[in-house]
Amino acid sequence: MTDPAAGAPEAPTGAEWAAAVAAVRRLPADARVLLICHVNPDGDALGSMLGFGLGLRRLGVRQLQATFPGPPEVPEPFRWLPGLDLLVPQDAAYPDPDLVICFDAASESRLGDLVGRLGSAGASLVLDHHASNTRFGDINLVDPHAAATSVVAEGLLDRLGVPLDADIAACLYVALSTDTGSFRFEATTPAVHEMAARLLATGIRPGDISRRIFDTRPFGAVRLFGEAIGRARLEPGAAGGRGLVWTYATLDDLARHDQPPYVLEALIDSVRCTAEADVSCVVKQTPAGDWAVSLRSKGAVDVSRVAVALGGGGHRFAAGFTGRGSVDEVVDSIRAELDGALLAV
Ligand code: AMP
Ligand code: MN
Ligand code: MN
Repeated sequence: MTDPAAGAPEAPTGAEWAAAVAAVRRLPADARVLLICHVNPDGDALGSMLGFGLGLRRLGVRQLQATFPGPPEVPEPFRWLPGLDLLVPQDAAYPDPDLVICFDAASESRLGDLVGRLGSAGASLVLDHHASNTRFGDINLVDPHAAATSVVAEGLLDRLGVPLDADIAACLYVALSTDTGSFRFEATTPAVHEMAARLLATGIRPGDISRRIFDTRPFGAVRLFGEAIGRARLEPGAAGGRGLVWTYATLDDLARHDQPPYVLEALIDSVRCTAEADVSCVVKQTPAGDWAVSLRSKGAVDVSRVAVALGGGGHRFAAGFTGRGSVDEVVDSIRAELDGALLAV
């Protein structure tokens, strides 16, 4: 475990990369490998996992599964991804794989019912980019400077000698463009564009990919967004006067518009554009009855501190946690943490 007080971990060391390469290379021909990404998988979780899985397949790994905790439904925007045939429901996943590899999960709590596979596997490897990562694997490739877990995945594929093909590239591009907000966020470094160039050079079509994952949603979701945005609240005095904007969506809202929960993932993007608020928040009721809370900041607040204080995690300007109680209680708990998470700007 890394001591959070010790500050953000650095990029993986040469020894850590070498250990990860060795863990894959020493697999016997009949090894069973299980890939796991975080609950409610987003583009980075699915894209880095499936892209790396396709690379392992090219290396000759034959007994290979990919999974994630919870219902085995892949959100509609990702249902065209190459490598979906690797996916199995969590209950069908190897109970004692020779190697388990985790993608984009900052802590074991993000692995839900699959957390036991870490103990039953021969070895565990963690690929991630959250500064809050708890280093819960035997081998940890955690790069808090990486814009997406797919950056780490590409680095390991390269060291394993796996060339990029269009299928691997499509997965890694979805991951990279998701976590950089289509190359708009601060994490969009020259290295990110260089990686995007390598991916695009395989012939993948960025226009088609972006339209599918960012610019397409059912009409029912458009109407549902209208309702949720219509009841958004602006609190200019919150966060030391930097402002908070928040809204919520319930299971009843989803049912009325006949929509699955994943459509709410994009709602935060329509709320965080509010000029008068640094911090934005969407509180989404989950099928389990609690609330998946999304937090964003434009730079004045470290929302990962808020999220960690409330049992979650994430990045400085994009974080989340699981809320309990009423919507008002959840928002009260956030308000109470905001002042303590103000950054000196
Ligand atoms: P989201 O708002 O769901 O897009 O998540 C934003 C960031 O917060 C992502 O990096 C997530 O990995 C992280 N995150 C969201 N929910 C949780 C949670 N319950 N526990 C830990 N990290 C979370
Ligand atoms: Mn993620
Ligand atoms: Mn990520």
